[in-house]
Amino acid sequence: MILLNDFGRQWSEICEEATATFRQIGESGWYILGREVQQFEKELAEYWGLPRAIGVASGLDAIEICLRTLGCKAGDKVLTTPISAFATTLAILKIGAMPVFTDTDQFGLVDLDAARDTLQHDPTIRWFIPVHLYGHALDLGKLRALQEDFEIAIIEDCAQSVGARSAGLRTGCVGRMAATSFYPTKNLGAMGDGGAILTANAECADHAQVLRDYGQTAKYQHDVIGYNSRLDELQAALLRRVSLPRLDRWTARRRHIAASYIAGINNQAVRVPGPPPGSESCWHLFPVIVEPECKLGFMQYMKTRGVGTGEHYPIAIPDQRACGDVSIEITRAGIERARRFCRSQVSLPVHPYLSNEDVATVVEAVNDWKA
Ligand SMILES: *Cc1c(COP(=O)(O)O)cnc(C)c1O
Repeated sequence: MILLNDFGRQWSEICEEATATFRQIGESGWYILGREVQQFEKELAEYWGLPRAIGVASGLDAIEICLRTLGCKAGDKVLTTPISAFATTLAILKIGAMPVFTDTDQFGLVDLDAARDTLQHDPTIRWFIPVHLYGHALDLGKLRALQEDFEIAIIEDCAQSVGARSAGLRTGCVGRMAATSFYPTKNLGAMGDGGAILTANAECADHAQVLRDYGQTAKYQHDVIGYNSRLDELQAALLRRVSLPRLDRWTARRRHIAASYIAGINNQAVRVPGPPPGSESCWHLFPVIVEPECKLGFMQYMKTRGVGTGEHYPIAIPDQRACGDVSIEITRAGIERARRFCRSQVSLPVHPYLSNEDVATVVEAVNDWKA
């Protein structure tokens, strides 16, 4: 079976280094906020080309702490996308703010022209969380123009886009702050939960660092209501010593596989969106589009051909039951495009441990499918 994510194959590659790392951290006797976290933050910031990185407990926390740092509070409106991991919206809801959903484009990404229209009609929206979904980079020029024209604070959700660029610029470099996740399936994954905040603004970085550790400004001095959201030494060490040094090679392999799919898949019933214009994608996922009524059949068929698939994401966020009990807003133009995308999207395996033979198997299976 060709899996959507293959942690078995990953473990065979990293086993020795990961085990040695575990032993070193055990022997060090220091498990929370120590040298490994500090060093990893430094190396991640360098990799990203931003001055500061702050390790936190998850991608969800990273987004919530960014919102808090940028002054967002209960009742405030935050523009975002209806297609993402639920965590993007959950971070907004957790502080009691109100998500405002604007429609997506043919790639499933938040439509930045629709976002502009929304911002024009509602000047009370002061925050925007765009998501670089699937490892595609949104148009960073357009994003920057939105931030400047409307004087809003943008938090880029880069949980899926580590390594992606738009016109040579890395995702996360335009917004006031950026958030990423080290959830194991992510391109830069840990062996547990983890996340990071990235920013060029030293004041924001300092504040986020206080918030992640109980709001402590000095030992036992609490100036604000903070969180327990610290990245462990163990996860930081694994990320720094095992995963980060391999990331560029893994990303290159993902790009190669994506290019093989784009060149090889040739079936009228399966649309391959490819990368959006200007995006140098890191291919966290490889989405294809089928007719909604064929989606389950396609996934079941792929399984019979030995290929695991996934759905990212089958339900638009505002349609989730949890959103029924809270205040949300959908912009006037609606989100019908997003809803249809959710009913039609299927993810093919694109992880770096696929062999060339696996890639050929996936292409052949897709091309043989009859809707
Ligand atoms: C994974 C993910 C998150 C949340 O990250 P966690 O570490 O699981 O909390 C947020 N946004 C997007 C787009 C994600 O893919």
